[in-house]
Amino acid sequence: MNKPGVIAAAVSLLLLVSGRVEGRAEIVGADPDARATDQTQANGVALLLRRLERAVQAGDTAAYLSLLTDSADRTRAQNFGGTEIVPGATRAVVQERDRQPLAGTLPDNGYSLLVDAFVEYGGRARIATWTIDIKRIGEAGSDREWAIADQQQVSSVESLYHLALNGAKQYAARDLKIAAEDLELTLTDGSVFVVDVDQGVTGAVLMGHGAMRFKPAPETEQGQVKIFCGSETLETKFDAMYVRLHPSDFESVIGSANLQPRAIDPRELKRAQDVFRAESPKSFVLDLGDLSRDAWSLLPGPGDFLAEIRTRRFDTLTYARSGSEAEDVSLFDRKRHRNISIYPSKQRAALRAGRSFNEDEGVDYDILDYQIEAAFTPERQWIDGRARIRLKVRSYMLGTLTLKLADPLVVQSIASTEYGRLFGIRVKNQNSIVINLPVSVPRDKELTLVIVYAGRLEPQTPDRETLAVEQRGMQEDASVLIAAEPSMLYSNRSFWYPQAPVSDYATATLRITVPLNLDCVASGELEPGFPVVMPGKDPSQNRKMFAFTATKPLRYLAVIVSRFTRAETTTVALPTGTFSLTVEANPRQTNRGRDLVGRAAGIATFYESLLGDMPYPSFTIALVENDLPGGHSPGYFAALNQPLPTSTLNWRNDPVSFGAFPEFFLAHELAHQWWGQAVGWRNYHEQWISEGFAQYFAALYAQHQRGDETFGDVMRQARKTAMDATEQGPIYLGYRLGHIRGQSRVFRALVYNKSAAVLHMLRRLVGDEQFFGGVRDFYSKWRFRKAGTDDFRVAMEASAGRPLGRFFERWIYGSTLPKLKVTHRVEGSDVVLHVEQVGDLFDVPLTLSLQYADKKAVDVVMKLSERDTDLRVPLTGTLRGVDVNKDDGTLAEIVRN
Ligand SMILES: [Zn+2]
Repeated sequence: MNKPGVIAAAVSLLLLVSGRVEGRAEIVGADPDARATDQTQANGVALLLRRLERAVQAGDTAAYLSLLTDSADRTRAQNFGGTEIVPGATRAVVQERDRQPLAGTLPDNGYSLLVDAFVEYGGRARIATWTIDIKRIGEAGSDREWAIADQQQVSSVESLYHLALNGAKQYAARDLKIAAEDLELTLTDGSVFVVDVDQGVTGAVLMGHGAMRFKPAPETEQGQVKIFCGSETLETKFDAMYVRLHPSDFESVIGSANLQPRAIDPRELKRAQDVFRAESPKSFVLDLGDLSRDAWSLLPGPGDFLAEIRTRRFDTLTYARSGSEAEDVSLFDRKRHRNISIYPSKQRAALRAGRSFNEDEGVDYDILDYQIEAAFTPERQWIDGRARIRLKVRSYMLGTLTLKLADPLVVQSIASTEYGRLFGIRVKNQNSIVINLPVSVPRDKELTLVIVYAGRLEPQTPDRETLAVEQRGMQEDASVLIAAEPSMLYSNRSFWYPQAPVSDYATATLRITVPLNLDCVASGELEPGFPVVMPGKDPSQNRKMFAFTATKPLRYLAVIVSRFTRAETTTVALPTGTFSLTVEANPRQTNRGRDLVGRAAGIATFYESLLGDMPYPSFTIALVENDLPGGHSPGYFAALNQPLPTSTLNWRNDPVSFGAFPEFFLAHELAHQWWGQAVGWRNYHEQWISEGFAQYFAALYAQHQRGDETFGDVMRQARKTAMDATEQGPIYLGYRLGHIRGQSRVFRALVYNKSAAVLHMLRRLVGDEQFFGGVRDFYSKWRFRKAGTDDFRVAMEASAGRPLGRFFERWIYGSTLPKLKVTHRVEGSDVVLHVEQVGDLFDVPLTLSLQYADKKAVDVVMKLSERDTDLRVPLTGTLRGVDVNKDDGTLAEIVRN
């Protein structure tokens, strides 16, 4: 539960996110404009605050009471002093963050100040946020111009520690074993230095001869470890290690009995200090901005464990056990920034009903609507933004909330319409802000936040939807005659506006301002009458503003800025209504853009006929020049790359480069309006719901438009690339496929192509009517929600009237393929076809083609689910032979006699 005032838990959660382990936080909310402009007044208030600061540092409640007005409630002030002004402080800093006129006072005669108080007690500190109501009681410039009328604690961050290695203690250790789930660390012989705080030991540096052994329990994770190091068990020596834990775990994890005190070796102490200085800032550390220049650390939660292991073979590996994560065990390659392994601990897995977890379960709030005003200055890659976010509380009580926003964007202010100016901690390297609310807000209450921010933000790099060039070389020298028209995309991976930590369906309105010579396409329908010219100081600074409205919920908002001309716009009539289709193209691509409209209308009409719905009322294609084909499809629009004829990059061997089907990208991106946008995926494991369906729908369109041969070509390539990559892991690993080695083609081969092939096998197994009925039911049930594999299985089981647990178990959660041994024998006028599943048992369809000497071949589909399956087929001619899987419809290894 999320209590007001205790920000620490929320921050430590952010700091320990696996793969994003490093993080520093800074305080935001300081706004110079919020301070009074009248210098005298500022001085008078500043004087009062300095006296307050001194009273806090002295722990002197009596001194505090002397700052009160005569009419102030002294009992309230005394109670405030009892918790907020306590003896033992070694340093105090009080900073004003905001002031509002105090109700019931004349202008400039009373203020309600929001202040942060940072108080150190030796190596420990706390931050409190207070409202201090002040009234004018004396002449301007007099010694007692202002006094405190009332005060209240708004929130606090407790138990911050300025960590240091204890240089007065050194221990010798022999065969010291530290165990965490699936991890064994042994210090055969070496030295240990500790980091202690008032509660006990929270960290240690271990140096000497060490051995690390990591073997994740889940088989899939063993496969990932094998991709990383060549073996399912990662074993390596280490020379040094830094660990963090909660002091209450010290005895069970390290144990003082295993440490023998010894005399300090100054050289070893120096080395240990170096390790501490390098490793300790990487996690649990807050950056407190103007409150303190020192690094202040939070304590890990009980049961949490973190080790920075300096290994011989793999540089620094970070193992983390983090109770706040759905997948609470992780191993991270710090140097290359890769997640090697992430999974739920045995204890966590046992609590779950199925394999899947719902990333929405832990969310504290639901965003209902965004109003974004953003001005883009592309030559500086600069964004000035203002986001108004309406949200509804989902946790029992909400005291702090976390929003994502790109690190380079500086937050200028946070306010809520209900509570005024708010206090936030910016967690660096985490693209996050933690906002403290002054009160606990109960479930179902709505809040509106307004966040003003600005900064330089690079556009999104091409995602894995864009083909990658595997080999670079030639093209570096090749002269590109025409440069592609530049375009800047800000979308789901940019964090260009404050947003929920997990994707969250919300409606939106966007006001996007760009320089006069540029245009943009963004999420939503362009409002009539826009763009409008916004006059600047002089005509050279005139800008253009676009307004977009998204009345249907979106998972995230996106904008692409470039030079566009309207190639075409049309209204498409569908059985379920109409939708408008527009192509905005880079100027050189206008003709091509015009040709796209009819094609896109045909594709959308086809998809609508399969699903009985068009989720968004309009769709805009932004046709942009790029060196590589690809695209990106948020709701309401798609950016579609148009490679220039002069591009010399070679992408043609990519898993999703379908030569026979040039409309592939358009068909795939358009399918994302239904799959990926209207139906989202529940967490990273379920991304195949988006990419697999988009891919299969694109293939279905190929069949619809160009016939079986093109469909066959697409499925053949899907099968081949999927089979080649299948050992890299199950579809269920999502983005992690190919991640360890940075091979995005592995991701496309499996999450796109294998998923499409799996859907095709499912269709052949259950039959067309059942398949399309189930897909349609699944779609309508999960429209504008996030779904997972289990939800699709349930819909298909209902439609097919049979259990499909093993089908999904093998194809989505597993990475093996069926091994099928096919034989046949002629008995009288029949042929008996026999298939034996040699390896794991699968549910899989297989096409056998009876080749006749004297007539056309006849295809027979066998549905396999047993170890041995026989099918007797009457012969209609002279059998010449039996071809297996000629249609490439089955992912299987065929064993020949
Ligand atoms: Zn896609």
